[in-house]
Amino acid sequence: MTKNITAETLRGVPLPDPAGGSKEARGSALVIAGSVEVPGAAILAGTAALRAGAGKLQMSIAAGTAPHAALAVPEALVVRLPEGEGGHVDHRVAAEVLLPRTERAAAVLIGAGMASGEPTKALTAALLSGPSEAPFVLDAASIDGLRDHADAVRARAGRVVLTPHAGEMARCLGCERDAVEADPLAAARRAVEMLGAVVVMKGAETWIVEPGGEVWHYRGGGAGLATSGSGDVLAGIIVGLLARGTKPAEAAAWGVFLHGEAGRRLGEGCGPIGFLARELPGEVPGLMRDVA
Ligand code: AMP
Ligand code: MG
Repeated sequence: MTKNITAETLRGVPLPDPAGGSKEARGSALVIAGSVEVPGAAILAGTAALRAGAGKLQMSIAAGTAPHAALAVPEALVVRLPEGEGGHVDHRVAAEVLLPRTERAAAVLIGAGMASGEPTKALTAALLSGPSEAPFVLDAASIDGLRDHADAVRARAGRVVLTPHAGEMARCLGCERDAVEADPLAAARRAVEMLGAVVVMKGAETWIVEPGGEVWHYRGGGAGLATSGSGDVLAGIIVGLLARGTKPAEAAAWGVFLHGEAGRRLGEGCGPIGFLARELPGEVPGLMRDVA
């Protein structure tokens, strides 16, 4: 049976009670995102993680952009990744720096705004194979190579949430984007079968499929959400909810709802298109309060 994602459905799976909790209790989110070309993705995802209630934020980003990211998100601890040739981060060095941090984090996001290609695939594989027991959110370029590391995803026993759009899903499955767009739910089910993860198949409608086959569906938010950086915010909200101790499928469903409703509210206020992804996170605290 498909569960429609509404405020009412989500009241049945409430978020962890924040009352009286310390920032340690609400967990540290580690956001491994952005690149020399797209440092803003780390800022968007990191801000969204804090707005979703994570107690602490660590953002890892190429050393050259780190001071700027640190000033843009003064709440964050910024982990500088040394750059090699062309300003790009060496994935081996990055894995060495990040592996111990994944062990201490309550939840980890990899991929938003990172460059497509082998280095991101290799870094993702190295961190997935590491000892951390934290739940992972994999977004964008970190999803591309998962077919070759299906065992590492499976070994995390449902503690991985993937947030692909149709193009990323097509690269993950090794099929055409048209095939994903023709039947996004079927594509999500194939990915779940292959990887044993929670899959958030994004688009104008969003389908979430759990490893046990349960399906959630969300339609809403509006076309204004089809804007640069919007998916980075969604991934950030989900990692923030996971850091608080929300179960993976519930964090995905809540994340999709909060992101969609934030878009709807902004659309009502300033017009249906043209709001900015950076404006979405500010809507999240009030939405969480109103749904609870
Ligand atoms: P990304 O492509 O990674 O930036 O993610 C875009 C986000 O916006 C996803 O969460 C989509 O589900 C959402 N989105 C894109 N287009 C629409 C639309 N027409 N209506 C509602 N949500 C959308
Ligand atoms: Mg995206």
